[in-house]
Amino acid sequence: MFGRLLLAGATAPGVRRTVLAIPGSSRVVSRFIAGESQADAIRAAEHLTREGFKVTIDHLGEDTTDLEQATAAADSSVALLDAVYANGLAASTEVSIKLTALGLALPDGEAIAFENAARIVRRAAEVGTTVTVDMEDHTKTAVTLAVVRRLREIQPTTGLVLQAYLHRTPHDIDEFAAAGARIRICKGAYNEPETVALTSRSEIDRGYELCLTKLFASNAYPMVATHDPKLIALAASLAQRHGKNAGDFEYQLLNGIRPDEQQKLVESGATVRVYLPYGSQWYGYMMRRMAEKPANLALFLKAMSSRS
Ligand SMILES: Cc1cc2nc3c(=O)[nH]c(=O)nc-3n(C[C@H](O)[C@H](O)[C@H](O)COP(=O)(O)OP(=O)(O)OC[C@H]3O[C@@H](n4cnc5c(N)ncnc54)[C@H](O)[C@@H]3O)c2cc1C
Repeated sequence: MFGRLLLAGATAPGVRRTVLAIPGSSRVVSRFIAGESQADAIRAAEHLTREGFKVTIDHLGEDTTDLEQATAAADSSVALLDAVYANGLAASTEVSIKLTALGLALPDGEAIAFENAARIVRRAAEVGTTVTVDMEDHTKTAVTLAVVRRLREIQPTTGLVLQAYLHRTPHDIDEFAAAGARIRICKGAYNEPETVALTSRSEIDRGYELCLTKLFASNAYPMVATHDPKLIALAASLAQRHGKNAGDFEYQLLNGIRPDEQQKLVESGATVRVYLPYGSQWYGYMMRRMAEKPANLALFLKAMSSRS
């Protein structure tokens, strides 16, 4: 219930303005976010790479309201890819993108987002790395997958995200797994109605188990995006059952969440990718992290009250 309120706050302009106006509010986000600049993201990716992790960097932004902003968001991802290459990180580091940041919500948004995403995907291929397209709320699912289909024609390694809570996801797994896609499976981070999604924790966990089982039995490259120890253990046992080794699938975890588990997994020899966001537009991302774990809100409020 509380999580749903926080998710509502993630999109309410009044709440957003209030939170952003609190001086020093960006300080607390440093646990989850690499920093505000591209240089911060590259530094953090270098550190993670040295520790044995793979990385996917997300330049935060999802409220693009005009064409210039959409172009600038794509420019940032292209520049980020150039920096990844220049710093010798292409073997470990890819980028994640959100189609709304690239213009999806504008008039004729599908075409705009596709052109911007295609530019990023082409540059990723040139520098020797990949792109994964994040999934947003359910009103964007069909159009995001339509764009992903076209991006995969340009570069078949382009990854996609499916959310275990959506009723449609098992069918989407069938389609994209048959094509051997890189599929990140996550529980889903948005406030969705019962008509399109499972809403209770236990149902969502069960849904995730079914999706994992399908993915590991398929031709897909599974990207297991969860911090849930039960589901991480299930992925390990499915990998063993299907003879998948460290290079055949990967775990993905968010920067700053369960670092102990991240370390343990990487030490076990598994492929582990850290999702590393950066940029000044951290608000929506932070609200979703607080909705997942309201204890993060306490951390946030404590940092606010101790600001100097
Ligand atoms: C790499 C990655 C990429 C993702 N991409 C997307 C995407 O494109 N679209 C989308 O809708 N969602 C995305 N998500 C978010 C995902 O949908 C979930 O909201 C999020 O991962 C929490 O679910 P969980 O599987 O970790 O399980 P939960 O049951 O929520 O958490 C399991 C345990 O993990 C820890 N934990 C989980 N979340 C937090 C937190 N915020 N702070 C501190 N501890 C926490 C707690 O110990 C918790 O008990 C992504 C998640 C990951 C890991």
